[in-house]
Amino acid sequence: MSFPVPSEPIIIIGAGMAGLACATWLHRAGRPVLVLEAADAVGGRVRTDVTPEGFRLDRGFQVLQTNYPEARRIFDYKALKLKAFSSGAVIRLPTGRETTVQSPLQKPLAAFSALASPIGTLSDKLRILSLVRHVLKHTPEQLLARPATDTLTFLRRYGWSEQMINSFFKPFFGGVFLDRELTTASNFFEFIFQQFVTGTASIPALGIQELPDQLAGRLPAGTVRLNTPVAGIVDGRQVRLTTGQVLPASAIVLATDGLATLRLLAGRSGNPNDAPTAEAGSYPTAARITTCTYFATPGGHSPGRNDKLLRLNATPGALAHNVAFPADVSGAYAPAGRSLISVSTHGERSLEEAELVPLLRQELAAWFGPAARDWEHLRTYRIAAALPVYLAGQPPRQPLMLAENLYRCGDWTSYPSLNGALGTGREVAELIIKA
Ligand SMILES: Cc1cc2nc3c(=O)[nH]c(=O)nc-3n(C[C@H](O)[C@H](O)[C@H](O)COP(=O)(O)OP(=O)(O)OC[C@H]3O[C@@H](n4cnc5c(N)ncnc54)[C@H](O)[C@@H]3O)c2cc1C
Repeated sequence: MSFPVPSEPIIIIGAGMAGLACATWLHRAGRPVLVLEAADAVGGRVRTDVTPEGFRLDRGFQVLQTNYPEARRIFDYKALKLKAFSSGAVIRLPTGRETTVQSPLQKPLAAFSALASPIGTLSDKLRILSLVRHVLKHTPEQLLARPATDTLTFLRRYGWSEQMINSFFKPFFGGVFLDRELTTASNFFEFIFQQFVTGTASIPALGIQELPDQLAGRLPAGTVRLNTPVAGIVDGRQVRLTTGQVLPASAIVLATDGLATLRLLAGRSGNPNDAPTAEAGSYPTAARITTCTYFATPGGHSPGRNDKLLRLNATPGALAHNVAFPADVSGAYAPAGRSLISVSTHGERSLEEAELVPLLRQELAAWFGPAARDWEHLRTYRIAAALPVYLAGQPPRQPLMLAENLYRCGDWTSYPSLNGALGTGREVAELIIKA
């Protein structure tokens, strides 16, 4: 069944979170929109696969921080049936010993002060309280606008001990940034720290893909065209598909990642060497890599003990960096009587799946006991461009208007998160509405 499309809609290229947010706000303002997506589903980097057995596998471990201002603006949280992870983590120390920190950012003194806790000095804990007070005094925008250095330098200057940095900050925030060395800009760290203090890390009951599905589901039928890769832009007012078809547009929004945007703009003149640097500003295309390997237990017993806490590995050189048990948080992630284990390895470039999985099994058996050797390997996702690299000095918002009727949005034009992607989508919609 086909649906009528207005003769010159606003064409959005890319149905990731930025493109869908842009479409949502334009549609709410009564503007005709057409979203062209190369893939077979909406979501971009926010996708969930359902296996024949009924496991829900998010393409990479990913959570929604419930206090993200843009998420609160656009999502119907109730309909998403959000399920929260417990605040905190179980940390595996280099000695092999585990220590649990419950609500480390909300209740730092209690979290780290259990007699048995080997993490952090009293001053380290007091410093967390001081940072909590600091971030609560600011809005997210103010934190993102603060002068930045890299996060590791920021933490050292703040005075935390190396032990606290290595045992807590590196595994915890290294997992959020997909950057174990904490080279990511400190203003983004302050923003994320605030989000952890004020909100919860949650997943929709049926998988992370519920986020884009909710936005796409509220657009009129026919607004999003899947399996429709765009080849380039013609004369700034038309979009050329890879099929050769040309579609006229009243405005064009590039809601693609940095590299794809560069290619599409180069295609505008037909000359791939003709990179549009003058009009488009900078193109930060470097990206963080992550690999997510899923295992399932043969029976229903969860190695996560149903505590809904993330496991973090502070052991240098380990491959299993973060371990999560999504079905403990939302039962729908695994079929009845099974448990799901998600293992993230950040930054590893060289290992093939056939090499990685046995190495992970060895580490997991040492960590969770010999039963881990019998866990069924379900799937491994390697995501080569998971997050744009965000370093000190990068502006939290790049210019979004490239030329008359030509715009861009996406996390790479702001900072690497769902909030950044959703926010730039909304801002482009507002620019178009005002134009
Ligand atoms: C493993 C992983 C974990 C993450 N964890 C978190 C987290 O915990 N919290 C958080 O806030 N963020 C997290 N993120 C980041 C977050 O997912 C992204 O910031 C956000 O989804 C980016 O959305 P986007 O719309 O900017 O880009 P994308 O999702 O990349 O969307 C771009 C879209 O454009 C389409 N496209 C590209 N070229 C073309 C073309 N020529 N024609 C048509 N369509 C095209 C693509 O197919 C894609 O759908 C994570 C990301 C990953 C991968």
